[in-house]
Order: sequence, then C-alpha cells, then structure tokens
Amino acid sequence: MKLSHQLWNTNIQNQKYYDESPLCPICQILPESFSHIFCCSFSSARDHRQETLSQLQTSLHHGIPPELLNAILVGLIKWTESQPCASPLVGSRLPSLLAIHHAFLEQTELGWDAFVRGHISILWTQAFLANYVTKKNLSPHQTNSIVDRWMKLLVNQLWIFHQFSGTWSRGTLPSQQGTSRSTGMCYIIVFAISIRSLHGTAVPQLSV
Ligand SMILES: [Zn+2]
Repeated sequence: MKLSHQLWNTNIQNQKYYDESPLCPICQILPESFSHIFCCSFSSARDHRQETLSQLQTSLHHGIPPELLNAILVGLIKWTESQPCASPLVGSRLPSLLAIHHAFLEQTELGWDAFVRGHISILWTQAFLANYVTKKNLSPHQTNSIVDRWMKLLVNQLWIFHQFSGTWSRGTLPSQQGTSRSTGMCYIIVFAISIRSLHGTAVPQLSV
C-alpha cells in the first residue's frame, strides 16, 4: 500500500484552482512545489531550515543510536540542499552499520520528500534494532515497545519539522493556524497507516 499525502496547498496547486501565482512566496523565483517548501535556497529559508533541522536533531537525539540519527539528518540535509544523497556509511562492514546503510539506500530510493510525508522505509526499524544497545535482557514485547516508542517520536518530530517549514514559508506560526491541530492528527494518522502497511504485523500498532 502506498500513500501520498501533502498537507500544504502549494502555490502550484493554488495556480491550478485559484489562478494565483505559482511562485514560492520566499524566493519569488521558482514554482512552489511540496519539495520546494523544504528545498528553497533563499538565504532566510536556509537559515530557518537549519534551525528546524537542529531542533529535529535535539528532539530525536535521546535514546537513538547516534549513527542512525546522523544518517537520517544527512539524508534530510542533502535533500533540502538538492545534493546527491550518498550514504554516510558507504563501505561499512559492521552488520549494525550496514543495517543503517541499507535503510538509507532504501529511503533514498523512496525519496526523502516521501520520508517527510510518511513513507518511512521498514529498514529503519531493523537498523534501530541492530544498533540499540541495552544491558537488560528484553522480551520481544519490550523490544517491540521500544521500537514503537521510537517510531512515535520520529513521527511526532517529523510532523513538527513539516509544520514549521510549511507555516514559516507563509509567514504564520503553527499556533496561529486554527486547523493545525486537526491537520496534525491527520498527518500522524497517515503516518501510522503508512508505517503499519510497511511493517505488516511485525510491529505493534501505533496509538494515534
Ligand atoms: Zn523559494
């Protein structure tokens, strides 16, 4: 099952339906597509993006294997800078790092714009498990709970990243948007459905 969900009405869509300018409101040079919202190279857009990526890093950093978080950030940064997404772990031989490398490659194939929209490769959970270190002897149920918690955190933080990038380009903050909460829930539900479809029955359902 493949889902595609774009919550922002881009100016390309607005042109189609309302005959408005298709240009990005920030740079006024390129048409505003979903990807352009995240990849606009105008200096203020880049500054804002750096800040939101830094917030994403801070929010995700607790409890996540550092190499895994780094791979996710590298993918997002390369995508937003319109650069080729080369895996930071190319050439690795350690099975745990190879797991991240394979997740990175599959996500690059799916697309990092797709990642932001909730098309998350199943291989990220395998990479998480391959790199998760604990001294406890965990049962399969406890292990699934940890993966579930990580996925929820990732979904929530990607939603915030998505929200701040899209609302900022329109000069509004999420709190100023009356529909932000319901839109957020919609986004999380789409994520959850997408993740369930990717994982089949191997991973417990997300509560949304
Ligand atoms: Zn732009």
